[in-house]
Amino acid sequence: MKVALVGIGKIAVDQHVPSIAASDEWDLDATVSRSGTVDGVTSYTEIDTMLAENLDINVVSLCLPPVPRFDYAAACIRAGRHVMLEKPPGATVAEVHALQAMAEEAGVVLFATWHSRMAKGVAAAKAALTGKTIETAHIDWKEDVRKWHPGQDWVWEPGGMGVLDPGINALSILTEILPAPVHLRRGIVQVPRNRQTPVAAELSFTGGVTASFDWLKQGEQLWEMTLTATDGTAVQLKEGGNRCIVDGADQSLAELGEYPALYARMADLVRKGQSDVDLAPMVHVSDIMTLCERETVDAFEW
Ligand code: NAP
Repeated sequence: MKVALVGIGKIAVDQHVPSIAASDEWDLDATVSRSGTVDGVTSYTEIDTMLAENLDINVVSLCLPPVPRFDYAAACIRAGRHVMLEKPPGATVAEVHALQAMAEEAGVVLFATWHSRMAKGVAAAKAALTGKTIETAHIDWKEDVRKWHPGQDWVWEPGGMGVLDPGINALSILTEILPAPVHLRRGIVQVPRNRQTPVAAELSFTGGVTASFDWLKQGEQLWEMTLTATDGTAVQLKEGGNRCIVDGADQSLAELGEYPALYARMADLVRKGQSDVDLAPMVHVSDIMTLCERETVDAFEW
């Protein structure tokens, strides 16, 4: 399948380009980016030009930040192309609902990807918790924004989500593996006084679920969650979901890494003509922005 990549920045270069190159199913045939390019691949700066000149490219993978993504996705769907959305799938829940309706009407596939759900231990965690009742669960998602988003001011702008940009990865895993849904009860977000989005969050959900997100973590980076069920089952996910320990024993892991698994899934969805749009993690982020107390903290500078 021929794919065009849009928004050639950090994640496109780190993950999408190598995953497409390693796949037998995909060819990277074009890029669209205002300044970024990929060696040996035809590059465009305007999405409409790429769509008009490459009628044989039937899949477009959008790696832009969430705020500009809607207009690009809408243009691709109007042009009859299948679309893959980086996470978070949009700036608002409503705009992704709009894309869903457009895709259905146009008869194209829309895939709202959640790369962390493809982390190698997530399926094992889900299997271990199926049919159980969760007693307690805690998430620690603590990383250094300067390392993972160097100089990316969009994360601090409205729609950039701040620490909820990595936090939504944890929520995408949580919503995948919990046997029953939960919802936010209370929380506090800390917002730097010179920025629009949170740098940290402490969250409490129904069902005994708590989460602690921090974007200023130095040294060891923590992407972990621990869950216990009422029957005593204890599940730990470490390394962003890539390691799963159940009752003290390491579990066998999925074969493909996160982004290769996303492209394999997209190939399957296109073959079947099915969309996959689960907005449960986005709903939690909207709830966090709606319900949490807001504390102003020290200014953030790169
Ligand atoms: P990025 O490098 O800042 O942005 C990607 C590219 O999008 C930029 O290089 C830029 O390319 C284009 N772009 C930025 N703003 C734009 C605008 N207003 N209009 C049109 N194009 C624009 O960001 P990223 O880290 O790759 O993140 C992109 C998405 O991937 C986000 O949704 C993020 O949550 C997700 N993601 C990121 C990571 C990570 O580790 N960084 C990991 C997983 C997922 P041009 O200047 O060439 O147009």
